[in-house]
Amino acid sequence: MKEHDGKHGATITIVGAGIVGLAAAIELQRKGFDVTIIDKEGAGAGASKGNAGHFATEQVFPLADPSILPKLPGMLLDPLGPFRIQPKYFVKALPWFMRFLINMLPGRRTQNTRAIKALNRSSIAAMKELVSFCDCEALLTLNGSLLVFENTPLDEVNKELTAYANAGVEVQLLDGTQVRKLEPSLSKTITHALYFTHVGHTSDPYDLCKALELKFISLGGKFVTEELVKVAVAKSSSSIQLEMVTGTSKQINKLVIAAGAWSKPFAKQLGHRVPLESERGYHLMMPQLSKLSRPVASYNRKFIITPMAEGTRLAGTVEFGGLKAPLVPERADCLFAHGKALLPTLFESATVTDGERWMGFRPSLPDSLPVIGRSDKQSNVFFSFGHQHLGLTWSALTAKLLAQEVAGEQSNIDLQPYRIDRFD
Ligand SMILES: Cc1cc2nc3c(=O)[nH]c(=O)nc-3n(C[C@H](O)[C@H](O)[C@H](O)COP(=O)(O)OP(=O)(O)OC[C@H]3O[C@@H](n4cnc5c(N)ncnc54)[C@H](O)[C@@H]3O)c2cc1C
Repeated sequence: MKEHDGKHGATITIVGAGIVGLAAAIELQRKGFDVTIIDKEGAGAGASKGNAGHFATEQVFPLADPSILPKLPGMLLDPLGPFRIQPKYFVKALPWFMRFLINMLPGRRTQNTRAIKALNRSSIAAMKELVSFCDCEALLTLNGSLLVFENTPLDEVNKELTAYANAGVEVQLLDGTQVRKLEPSLSKTITHALYFTHVGHTSDPYDLCKALELKFISLGGKFVTEELVKVAVAKSSSSIQLEMVTGTSKQINKLVIAAGAWSKPFAKQLGHRVPLESERGYHLMMPQLSKLSRPVASYNRKFIITPMAEGTRLAGTVEFGGLKAPLVPERADCLFAHGKALLPTLFESATVTDGERWMGFRPSLPDSLPVIGRSDKQSNVFFSFGHQHLGLTWSALTAKLLAQEVAGEQSNIDLQPYRIDRFD
């Protein structure tokens, strides 16, 4: 039987068991592939473990936004601001920022917005299907989310509303009273909110990874806990050689690189130069259980609160500092004051030390688009990484698109904007 008929048991190996690799593994199994996942730590150990759990399909705008330029120097100088480059990392991050600036050009921005919207449009439907297939529907709540404003001039609020509405996002403007009718525990300092009605959240992104891992194993998937250090394709046979940190090696037929922010060296070994950077993000997990029914992001404070099964997650901030620098405790801790300002009663007698700090690496490309699809250099190598701030949101959909590409089927969405050769 041929590989694309979906019933032949052809083998494929995925490097990376974040939400992106796990979802891809399941979609490939559904197409009949015999899948092995290799991860250096275990399922959901990377960014997928501690993200804000928001299926954020309202986020249709690329991060390269010229309106941030005047605010940038102030943000960079503030060590606890929402955006920071570690001084030691500044020179290393420069090439990424040069490309980021180019992506602020109007033509590029329009093109990138279109490509983000194409993914966002089908992401929630794909996630609904995935959680249903994996028997974990309870981990997806479709209750919308709020973007709240404090002390913001009404014309600025309206400008945001218009931008989202013009981009086709389902959104309603609420005043302070309407906000507190929806979410009574929110502070009276909130004067307005944008209510995104067609988005969702999960009560625990790590539990979601674990549920996917369970399904993967139940379908006969193999999980190998090892660290890949080198990948090479034999010229004569096109078989792929994987070398592990332990010194062992494996020969495989087909490979998917889904190693999140760690994908860059493997792409390079396969002949692709990708400007992948990690945007380090933080959370402070508070044990207090909030009465919120949906995620609440703050326009002014640039962070998000998500009600979770084990407490209330305060998450956000962007820090450029590479993959090796340790977590900066103050960057997690500063989220507490913001959380307390928006949920004063919940955190009235709480202290920052109640919270558990976490840092994760968002895999980000300067055009805010992921890399999805087949290598143009090695036909048996595929990529799915670079999902930036939207990896949870896009995971189920990009898994489907990838599986279609591997199976040689026409994909539901044109993959051209996400091809790896866009950086050549
Ligand atoms: C603070 C924060 C909040 C966020 N909030 C949201 C949100 O609300 N909504 C949303 O959609 N997205 C959010 N994101 C982004 C989202 O978490 C990421 O885009 C997503 O988790 C990326 O998934 P991934 O599978 O590509 O990478 P990861 O989850 O990082 O997984 C990569 C895996 O590869 C493995 N690996 C790496 N190198 C090797 C190697 N050499 N050998 C073997 N295995 C290896 C790692 O162990 C890891 O398990 C947030 C991120 C952060 C940091």
